[in-house]
Amino acid sequence: MSENLIEVFRFKGKADGPTLLMFGAIHGNEVAGPKVLLPLIDKLSNGEMALDCGQLIIAPICNPRAHDENKRYIDINLNRLFGAPPRQDGYETALVGQLEALIGECDYLLDIHSTHSSGDPAFSFADRTKSKSMEFAKALGVDTIILDWEKVYPGEDFSTEAYTNRMGKVGITLEAGYHNDPEAIGVAERAMWQAIRFLGLMSGVDEVKSHPRYLKFTDRVMFEDGDRFTKSWVHMEPVAKGQGIYTRGNGETVVAEQDGVILIPFEQAQAGDDFYYFGVQEAA
Ligand SMILES: [Zn+2]
Repeated sequence: MSENLIEVFRFKGKADGPTLLMFGAIHGNEVAGPKVLLPLIDKLSNGEMALDCGQLIIAPICNPRAHDENKRYIDINLNRLFGAPPRQDGYETALVGQLEALIGECDYLLDIHSTHSSGDPAFSFADRTKSKSMEFAKALGVDTIILDWEKVYPGEDFSTEAYTNRMGKVGITLEAGYHNDPEAIGVAERAMWQAIRFLGLMSGVDEVKSHPRYLKFTDRVMFEDGDRFTKSWVHMEPVAKGQGIYTRGNGETVVAEQDGVILIPFEQAQAGDDFYYFGVQEAA
């Protein structure tokens, strides 16, 4: 197996402190991570900035070949391989060991993703069963935090976040929004700085006070042949009780049983795919 395919940058403060790990481009074409992490690496490398304490480990481009080819992945979705049963095939299997070892070194992971359609909203996930996960997510300045993924996701979750949490550390996945949108770059940059501030690695970073809203997954809906959305739903779009969400092959319309939001709609779903998830706003 090839070693060290991924470029990793390490910065240490004079005093002891926590280790923050930041990932970009786990999905090669999600460029918000590299866009904000590479300038930070430059500033820390040329001495323009320095850590006070702790350690910062940055892997700005976690899937280098997919990033070069502007693809999500080459052979296998890298974000489904963390802690998964080992396999030999595919380019990404050669990457995951190096990234798992970095997670082994860290206390906190911020994994920065971005999306491909204009107008995609930013959000992060968090694991409400872990108070540290909630505190870290809340500190990142993101407007929406989505909970209870583990309640609707079938089987074991081999994402960076789930793996990091299983290792007893704190992992947060940030979906910064559409990566060509300056606002998404702003979301990623703010989360990067707020993570550094939250862990006290550098002084002089202003706190961004945020009052995120919380959504929670309540249902997972599988696609069946003939299903068609009644409209082109956008992730986190509100839906009212009684409103049609999709029609079945037999013409029956499936309506929302309560007020809520459509989460991760997948218009191109095939039989066996997740069609969408239903969620509701958590009372503050
Ligand atoms: Zn992604």
